[in-house]
Amino acid sequence: MEEINLLKETLKKGMVQKYNNLTLEEKNLLKNKKYVENYNSIIGNLPYTNCEKCKNKGHIMVIDEEDATRHYIKKCSCMAERESIERFKRSGLEPLRQKYTFSKFNRYNEKTKKLYEKAKEFLENKNEKNWFFIGGQVGSGKTHLCTAMSLEFLKDNQVKFMEWVKESTTLKSLVLDDINYTRELGKLLYVDVLYIDDFFKGGINKADLRLAFEIINYRYNNDLITIISSEKSINEILEIDEAIGSRIYEKSYNFTFEIEKDEELNYRLRERG
Ligand SMILES: [Zn+2]
Repeated sequence: MEEINLLKETLKKGMVQKYNNLTLEEKNLLKNKKYVENYNSIIGNLPYTNCEKCKNKGHIMVIDEEDATRHYIKKCSCMAERESIERFKRSGLEPLRQKYTFSKFNRYNEKTKKLYEKAKEFLENKNEKNWFFIGGQVGSGKTHLCTAMSLEFLKDNQVKFMEWVKESTTLKSLVLDDINYTRELGKLLYVDVLYIDDFFKGGINKADLRLAFEIINYRYNNDLITIISSEKSINEILEIDEAIGSRIYEKSYNFTFEIEKDEELNYRLRERG
């Protein structure tokens, strides 16, 4: 036992001796290297994926190439994946991600083929900041196409999925609660791409019109891409409220579509089959 302790003691002394023999610069280099190693061994707790490189901290410490006594923090490559998953979660589209892709969109006649082509064209020209409007009878065809487009946008934009009935009800209930109302409305106003599903579904009262105008007008004035599906045609929306309808029509001029009742029914039947 005595001997072992003595050995340890000697070894320790040897190390100190060795360290003391280093020049100041060598000491600094060694210190920096140890500091970076220690820092990079700390375990973080970021979700979604397991990264060996940053140990789930999202960043790594790197020794400066020009001055090895210094270091800096660098974002880890795993953050692209984490941020993309985070965008999906915030968008509200996560549950639809597998189901409504472009490749699964059923192009069984001229109309659906054209819709598919126009949706692709819309994405290719996203710098033009057009809007996309598709109206017509209840069914999955509209939602499918609009979701597929939104998923494409999500690859490098913030996207928000708004189910009109659900979210307009929530917002209207917050009207007397300034802070929460502004915060919730802000999510719809400022996001890069807003997708409104089933716009103006259900009864429409004054509060609905006020809310719709607030959203549509802000996005119109700020050139923010908006995708709208509705059971109503653009003409019906114009009749309900001209200020809202005319803004949608103007922005989605090249991308306004209507699905007739029979075509829509067809799509659903074919999709099930
Ligand atoms: Zn990482």
